[in-house]
Amino acid sequence: MSGTAAQRHSGTGVRRFGLWAVGCGLLALVACNEIGVPFRTGFYGYSMIVTDVVVQDTVVDGVEYFTGDTIIDTLDFAWPPSALPVRIWVQDTAGLPADVDAAIQGWKNVLQYGEVAATIVGDSMNADVIIRGSAPAPSPAAGVRRLSAAPAACEGGTDVFVSAPDHTKLWTPIRVYVIPKFPLDDPATRPCLARVTMHELGHALGLFRHSPDPADLMYSFPDVDAPSEGDVTTILELYHQVSDLRPSLGRDTVPVPAPTP
Ligand SMILES: [Zn+2]
Repeated sequence: MSGTAAQRHSGTGVRRFGLWAVGCGLLALVACNEIGVPFRTGFYGYSMIVTDVVVQDTVVDGVEYFTGDTIIDTLDFAWPPSALPVRIWVQDTAGLPADVDAAIQGWKNVLQYGEVAATIVGDSMNADVIIRGSAPAPSPAAGVRRLSAAPAACEGGTDVFVSAPDHTKLWTPIRVYVIPKFPLDDPATRPCLARVTMHELGHALGLFRHSPDPADLMYSFPDVDAPSEGDVTTILELYHQVSDLRPSLGRDTVPVPAPTP
């Protein structure tokens, strides 16, 4: 964790974070194809920033926290080698299985030393990541942070749950949504779905923030069809450091109310 002791740990139960992206629409489709990938040497931020308000006095790791304290923690997550390949269950709708296949391949192509591997599984009960082609819960639970944008040809979201107050576990399965906004036969829709599926898989692999650069796949309005140099640099940085969170099988907590202490 990169937060100081005073910034760490608070609250109880589970917090939920949503990472949303909207693909480019019909008018932007040509521009999408024209955007090049610039040479990049740096990486963008990928850490999840967790903000909790302490609901009752508590002690975590020897540090005392008081009711009402606001705690900020900065968390990184990479799937550990022991958890690979990441098991993905995908809903069979709107070409989503093929898009997920392509998304897995897209990330695999740029991670040539096998930092990440993923496979599609047939049983959602055994999945680390669940990808659906339907909208998420309409009412965000308390503690939700969701990045969103205006409707376009499609949109996607990734909900991530972290244990609290310890902030050591990432509850699985991670839930991903990829949703068409235009009719499927609209020429903008299918490329948008494919692009946003790969973008959301990036979130599920641990890229928990958006790039500020439109040339990156992890930009909040993804306009490229594959991980860019910046995306590659960033995910390699993430996977070659110590992770703060470890994946742990969680409950079905969508949406999740603040639990009773
Ligand atoms: Zn996103």
